[in-house]
Amino acid sequence: MNIHEYQAKAILREFGVPVSKGFPAMSPTEAVEAARKLPGPLYVVKSQIHAGGRGKGKFKELPATAKGGVRLAHSVDEVAAHAREMVGNTLVTVQTGPAGKTVNRLYIEDGSDIARELYLSMLVDRTTGQVAFVVSTEGGMDIEKVAHDTPEKIITFPVDPATGVMAHHGRTAARALGLTGALVGQCVDLVTRLYAAFVSKDMAMLEINPLIVTKTGELKCLDAKVSFDSNALYRHDDIMALRDLTEEDAKEIEASKHDLSYIALDGTIGCMVNGAGLAMATMDIIKLYGEEPANFLDVGGGASKEKVTAAFKIITADPNVKGILVNIFGGIMKCDVIAEGVIAAVKEVGLKVPLVVRLEGTNVELGKKIIRESGLNVIPADDLDDAAQKIVKAVQGKR
Ligand code: GDP
Ligand code: MG
Repeated sequence: MNIHEYQAKAILREFGVPVSKGFPAMSPTEAVEAARKLPGPLYVVKSQIHAGGRGKGKFKELPATAKGGVRLAHSVDEVAAHAREMVGNTLVTVQTGPAGKTVNRLYIEDGSDIARELYLSMLVDRTTGQVAFVVSTEGGMDIEKVAHDTPEKIITFPVDPATGVMAHHGRTAARALGLTGALVGQCVDLVTRLYAAFVSKDMAMLEINPLIVTKTGELKCLDAKVSFDSNALYRHDDIMALRDLTEEDAKEIEASKHDLSYIALDGTIGCMVNGAGLAMATMDIIKLYGEEPANFLDVGGGASKEKVTAAFKIITADPNVKGILVNIFGGIMKCDVIAEGVIAAVKEVGLKVPLVVRLEGTNVELGKKIIRESGLNVIPADDLDDAAQKIVKAVQGKR
């Protein structure tokens, strides 16, 4: 689960991590109120969306010459002007995709004077099973580009969970970031606090880009991007409360209510599959035959009829879906349960696109019989290859 920058900074502040003073604002009026509570004379007006690259982003509704989603302001009036241009408009960044994201919230922050922009992130390294720090002197810019062009400028080190974070980790970071003098101690303190925040809140990723050295010689986190391990959210009600549903895909929200593993994609063929591996193979073969999947969906091992019905409804509600492929290998999952779920859903919401069904495994004959006798216009398929070809043909035939 992702949260907004202002929420991430509030958490970091709780752990004593240095961040600027600031207030969230839902409207230009609130932005002005927020700015009045700050000392000035420099303010930062920051669009809050679950995507990075905001500074270099562009608003769809504004001329191409307009400034991006993170702007400096030198007066409260200027804060108001920027806020009016941002709230309600669509910000497109390298991370949002071409559709962009609507800016519903702003963060108004006390502006900092920057001497240096650095990079620091933390993540769970799945190879070593340890939390790792990633640091670079090349902060503020596109870290993916740094990793590609000058990988030697990115330094990574793990923290052994048996010892936890220690002063030497902070000194390693300081050395890698070229920090000297009093900044070394600040870096040790920062690394210790960030590690505490990361572990106690079950973060999956924390990215500070840029981490800055101010002109007065202080380390400060100027940006903060945090995502949490969703498997641990059950023990963090405070984090769950930060969820912003307007940032999430409506279909994915609905799927999460039914405990379905569903990811919305851009293609035309809706897939209902059991098992993540089979779901991936189904998506691959759809691509092989020249179409794109509209989603990843694993209904799971022991799905009930209700769950299958919910899944089918989510797929059909997507206007991009021009055809549906149901591909079930019944192991624990029974083919007749799938058949009944599909039929129940079709009765409720209708079927406006071609539907190919491939069933195999437990109770397959019964499942096929239920579908045959339902009178539904279903295209039966014998195996995965056959099924993929049939749905692709059906979808392309309609164009
Ligand atoms: P991002 O573009 O989504 O990564 O948003 P950031 O929060 O990283 O802001 C983008 C850029 O705006 C930063 O890299 C800084 O160069 C600049 N910026 C952000 N806050 C301040 C500030 O307080 N003072 C100054 N001078 N620049 C800032
Ligand atoms: Mg940034």
